[in-house]
Amino acid sequence: METNFDIWVAGAGFAGAVAARALAERGKKVLVLERRNHIGGNAYDCLSTTGVLIHQYGPHIFHTNDKKVFDWLSRFTQWRRYQHRVIANVPRDNPEVVPAHKTTDGRFFFPVPFNLDSLRNAFGEREGRRLGEKLLDAYPAQSQVTILELRQNPDPEIAAIADYVYEHVFVHYTMKQWGQKPEEIDPNTTARVPVRLSQDDRYFQDAYQGMPLEGYTKMFERMLDHPNIEARLSVDARPVLKEARGPVIYTGQADELFDFKFGPLPYRTLFFQFETLFQDIYQTHGTVNYTVDQDFTRITEFKHLTGQEIPGVTAIVKEYSRAYTGEEGEIPYYAIINPENNALYAKYKAEADKYPNLHLLGRLAEYKYYNMDAIAARALELAERLA
Ligand code: FAD
Ligand code: UDP
Repeated sequence: METNFDIWVAGAGFAGAVAARALAERGKKVLVLERRNHIGGNAYDCLSTTGVLIHQYGPHIFHTNDKKVFDWLSRFTQWRRYQHRVIANVPRDNPEVVPAHKTTDGRFFFPVPFNLDSLRNAFGEREGRRLGEKLLDAYPAQSQVTILELRQNPDPEIAAIADYVYEHVFVHYTMKQWGQKPEEIDPNTTARVPVRLSQDDRYFQDAYQGMPLEGYTKMFERMLDHPNIEARLSVDARPVLKEARGPVIYTGQADELFDFKFGPLPYRTLFFQFETLFQDIYQTHGTVNYTVDQDFTRITEFKHLTGQEIPGVTAIVKEYSRAYTGEEGEIPYYAIINPENNALYAKYKAEADKYPNLHLLGRLAEYKYYNMDAIAARALELAERLA
């Protein structure tokens, strides 16, 4: 029966679903096999038992500068206008400094990415302003600077700002998230969250940003709803792929596909603690990062993201990061990018390259830190090549 298809796709997340649709529209008969009991991969959302729309695998905000990807996805969803804003919630460690913004319970808050307003909150109105001017003079032609770059600045006052931001934004959060210090992980990772030389307090600055109006799952349902696509849930694709007689797009783990023959690829996993609270709203922002203390990294309140109007109840999620052990039920969320792990991945990639019909696509299969838009762009490119 499996021979009736032109293309076999393992996984119904962004990579698998976008590729499947793009190929189906080019006349290919596509079989999509998904191991979970739902589509959407890690972008899957659903209603909680109290009716709040939640993201089961952590908060997902769509943002891109790629108009082609945005236009393509817009065929399957309308968008809710949403600009993600994040604050850090930290203990007030210097009682002599009066933060420019409000404080409660011995704690204070500042925008993340750390910006000129964060500086005024951290150092007080006057000193914060003065240091802000200094920072702008130090980087006259830049709108942002990475923490690793800032830490190399020899000026003692800039160095003091860099130390402050390192200590209050990056070092503890990164230790929680990766079990390593910022200077020990791939520099592209901390560069995702720069120091902003402006008052722009948006987490992302992309040209297109928003939330699928009726959620991600609805968008995926429409994407996979095509006469040339058959999607089957709760099936491990690996045994079935052996019967494939044409191109296979595999979006799962590369190491698992080859039975871990070169050893397991290292990942970080997350534990999500969801809480339902019987109140309208819990926090002021979509996400609050706990950059200095607490065991969790951040708390997200979904109603801010989704705009859902449902009085008297809200849902939050706390994220705890851990080393991935491969235990049953654990999900590998983040590849740990470093030269050693990249070299191990290269062995699996070389193995995959022995099969001309096998295409590794996606965050797991390519062992990369891709956002949703990057995966969608890669899926569209691959579909074009295969068609
Ligand atoms: P996945 O979504 O992981 O999909 C892969 C699918 O393949 C899964 O459904 C899996 O079950 C299935 N599969 C695996 N092996 C098999 C098998 N053998 N047989 C059948 N099926 C299989 N990106 C953003 O752009 N914005 C955000 O705000 C954002 N927030 C994030 C927050 C968190 C906590 C995390 C972890 C990621 C976030 N991302 C975000 C990244 C985003 O999740 C990924 O870019 C995207 O999900 C990648 O899609 P994918 O299809 O490659 O992988
Ligand atoms: N980061 C940090 N403090 C923060 C936010 C981010 O140290 O308040 C670092 C941390 O190392 C994190 C990386 O920047 O893993 C990328 O952050 P991002 O929010 O992009 O991570 P994601 O949403 O993908 O988990």
